[in-house]
Order: sequence, then structure tokens, then C-alpha cells
Amino acid sequence: MQLSTNFRLSEFTRSDTAKRLGIENECSSVEQVLNLAYLCHMVLQPLRDRFGPIRITSGYRCPELNRAVGGVKNSQHLRGEAADIHLPSVEKGKEYLAFLKTLPAVDELIWERNGNVCWIHVSARRVK
Ligand SMILES: [Zn+2]
Repeated sequence: MQLSTNFRLSEFTRSDTAKRLGIENECSSVEQVLNLAYLCHMVLQPLRDRFGPIRITSGYRCPELNRAVGGVKNSQHLRGEAADIHLPSVEKGKEYLAFLKTLPAVDELIWERNGNVCWIHVSARRVK
């Protein structure tokens, strides 16, 4: 299912961790899909239009997957309101961050790090 010009639902549900653990990470409500579509239209598609292809490393998470990756209990990933964006380099990441800060729909914007790996967590709330 296409969520916006360049984003498909499958990009937000695929997960190496889910695959490895045999977790079926599929949206369980229309609300979650609508939230992901909103996030795409308001945040990720504008970012893509500006910088070219971007890679989502974590989008929607079912409760089981969220527990498996150590996500916080009320994570916006559970509602399809958040995405983690792969950063090709720290420099590019800083450009993404500066651009995302200009988008009014952005709710949470966090530079995250695990060892040497950095990514951007960004969220938007369709239902306030
Ligand atoms: Zn995240």
C-alpha cells in the first residue's frame, strides 16, 4: 500500500528483529495506518523531496516488537506516529535535523545514538 508518493506501508512494518524473532509486525488498526500516512505526508515526504531517498529503520512496532527492541511502554512507534531515519553520515544527519526542525507538524525530534550508530527519531500526531 502506497502512503505517499515515495513511501509504502511495507517500509514501516519491515523489521530485521521481527523477522529474526518470528514476530508478525503488522498494523492492527486503520488508525495506525492513517497515522503513518500523516507522518509521511507532513514530514517524511518533504524530507525525501529535499534530500532524495531516505531509509526508515523503524516505523510501526507491534507491542511484541516494541518490547523486543527495548522501546518505551508508550512509544509513538506503537501508534504509527514515529519513524527512525537512517543517517548516511553525521553531516547529512545534521542537514536532515535542521530541515525537520522547520516542519510545523513535527512533534518529537530526537538525535539517537547506540555506539557508533546514529539515527533520527521523528514523530507527528495526526490526532492531537
Ligand atoms: Zn524511534
